[in-house]
Parts: sequence; C-alpha cells; structure tokens
Amino acid sequence: MNSNKDYKAIIIGAGPAGVGVAMKLYNSGIKSVLILDRNDKIGGIPSFYKREKGGVKTFMRWSRGAYPVFGQDFAKWLEKLISKTDIEVKLDSLVLEIDAKGKTVTFVNPKDGKLSVSAEAIIMASGSREENIAERKWLAGARPSRVMYTKQLLNFDKNDLLPIKKPLIIGSDVIAYAAAAKLKAAGSSDAIIVDNTSNPKCPIHERLYFRFWTNPSFHGFNAKTMEIEGKESATGIRVNGEHFDCDGIVISGELIPNSELALIGDLKVNVLSRIPVINKNNQLSEPGWFAAGNIRGGFHGAEWCYFNGKRTAVSVLKYINKK
Ligand SMILES: Cc1cc2nc3c(=O)[nH]c(=O)nc-3n(C[C@H](O)[C@H](O)[C@H](O)COP(=O)(O)OP(=O)(O)OC[C@H]3O[C@@H](n4cnc5c(N)ncnc54)[C@H](O)[C@@H]3O)c2cc1C
Repeated sequence: MNSNKDYKAIIIGAGPAGVGVAMKLYNSGIKSVLILDRNDKIGGIPSFYKREKGGVKTFMRWSRGAYPVFGQDFAKWLEKLISKTDIEVKLDSLVLEIDAKGKTVTFVNPKDGKLSVSAEAIIMASGSREENIAERKWLAGARPSRVMYTKQLLNFDKNDLLPIKKPLIIGSDVIAYAAAAKLKAAGSSDAIIVDNTSNPKCPIHERLYFRFWTNPSFHGFNAKTMEIEGKESATGIRVNGEHFDCDGIVISGELIPNSELALIGDLKVNVLSRIPVINKNNQLSEPGWFAAGNIRGGFHGAEWCYFNGKRTAVSVLKYINKK
C-alpha cells in the first residue's frame, strides 16, 4: 500500500451529487478536493443513457424550464463544469473501504494500485441501485432469459431492444415509464406495467411526458407474490391468479442506497431501508462525514441530486471553516 495524501475534501462518486458538492466547494475557495469514481467517466447514472437519433430524452433540467436531455448530455454538462476547475478526479477508482474515525478512504485503480487517502471532510455521493429479486421479497419464480433490469436498458440502443416485441415491466416508478417509452421508440408494443400498488408510483406529469411515445397499461395489485413464468425465456407473469403474457420482462424502480461502504466503515445505517443515518446538516453518524444525492434514500432526478450536492457542500464548508 502506498503512502497517505491529505485533502480538504474527498468525494466518493462523480455523479450529479458528487459534482454538485465539488463545484460548490471549489467555488467557495476549497481547492484541495479529490473525486473518486469506479466508472471511467464523470456523470454517474446519466452517463450510461446513450444519445440516439429518435431516442427518448429522459433527464429533465428543471432549472432550464423542464428541458429534457439525454443522460449522456447531462453527464457531459457535469464533465464540462469539472473541466473548468483543477479539481483532482480519479476515475476507474473503486473505493474498497473507509475508516470513519481515521477519515481515510482506500481505493484501487490500475494506475495507483491500492491507495489510502485522508481528508478533513469526506462526502459519500455513491448513489443508489435497483433492488435485486431476493431483496424485493415478493418476486417469485425462476429467472429465465429475457428478464432484465432497467439499468441494463440504459446502454441498449434500438437494435438491442428490438427482440422484445411485447414487453412487461414490473414496477411503476418514473424509470418504468421511461423504459416503456424507450422500448416503444425501439419498435416494441406498448408495455404492460404491473406493480404491487394500487396506483402508479410515477407522478402524473411525468407519465404525461412519456405519453408522447407510449401509453402503457397499468395493472395494480395487492399481492404477496408475483411469479415470473417461462422455462428458457420469460413468457409472462402470474399474480393473484391472473396471467399476463409477454416476451420480455424489465424489472424496474425500487432503488436502495449504495450504503455498503458506510456499513463497512461502521457509520450508522438503517438496516431495513439501508439509508444512512443523517442529521439535518447532512452529516453522517461520525463528524466530518456527509452524504449527498440518492444515497440519502428515495428516488430523485439527476438535477435534484446536483442541487442537493450543493446544499450538502454548504454544511461541509461550515464544518471545515469551524476547524
Ligand atoms: C437505473 C436508473 C435509471 C434512472 N433513470 C433516470 C432517468 O431516466 N431520468 C432521471 O432524471 N433520473 C434517472 N435516474 C435517477 C438519476 O440517475 C439519479 O437520481 C442520479 O444519477 C443520482 O445522482 P447521484 O450522484 O446521487 O448518484 P449516481 O448517479 O448513481 O452516481 C453515483 C456514482 O458513485 C459511484 N460509486 C458508487 N460506489 C462507488 C465506489 N464504491 N467506489 C467508487 N465509486 C463509486 C458510481 O460509479 C457513480 O458514478 C435513474 C436512476 C437509476 C438507478
């Protein structure tokens, strides 16, 4: 292991929230900032949403009058902000562990190998991920081919998606409706959306936006289990005795915070929700540790996370300046 290097602030995650924190700190005079991300580019989740002709713009710039953009363009905007600064960014850098009391972060990348760095303040902006089948507790049945997560859909272009003619989407968050629009734009039929709730979780104004591409049918249930059918390839689902036919299933929504590092580092995390314990100043359970963006729980759009990053940075500034 190499030697330590000190920064004023280290940010784990170069997504919208991490970039929001970095920009606010930098513009407020904190220049010694390191951003770490396991991806090879800045931008977090939006960076995976390909720009494609005739594709669906699913990222909203509310501050620009609900202006929709492709994820890649959102990520490019974030990248451009950082490129105008001399903030240090280490990509391809997976954070393996943290030491909450020692305020160190250990990461590994092809250039530095395994390295530990420390800082006065450390901000976790590592986002959230979709729950797997076991974590959902109500999705039964095998997992034949043609069952995927919306995350996998991000990278797919029209040709990759075309094999699914009759899609069924489990989950009804905004991501589910974005997925239905993307599938329809690729040539699939209107999706069937099924969820374990009586109404879609996606707010009405966002559903209306996606109507431009597709009008999926929603079926809400109050069921203990939902069963995926099909031996080699998904052919449908069964819920409360009712069968829904399809030739491909997309599992969507239900995001849980990427709080594994917090757990490893002995920061307090709610075991059931996986949401880290945060006080009103965005501080985690140890002084000098903060959280920004989707790691805080709930589902938020990318721009909200960027502004949340900026708000978190205000607390970080207060903490650093008090020391
Ligand atoms: C599948 C999916 C689809 C979505 N689709 C849309 C959409 O269409 N429109 C929309 O407005 N919003 C969408 N969102 C929401 C939006 O992408 C998020 O709100 C936003 O990106 C969250 O920003 P963030 O910075 O908190 O996290 P993220 O964007 O997730 O960024 C977190 C970053 O942390 C890094 N990271 C995590 N763990 C580590 C580690 N151990 N070491 C190093 N780096 C690490 C990740 O690589 C990532 O770059 C979607 C979210 C998901 C999960």
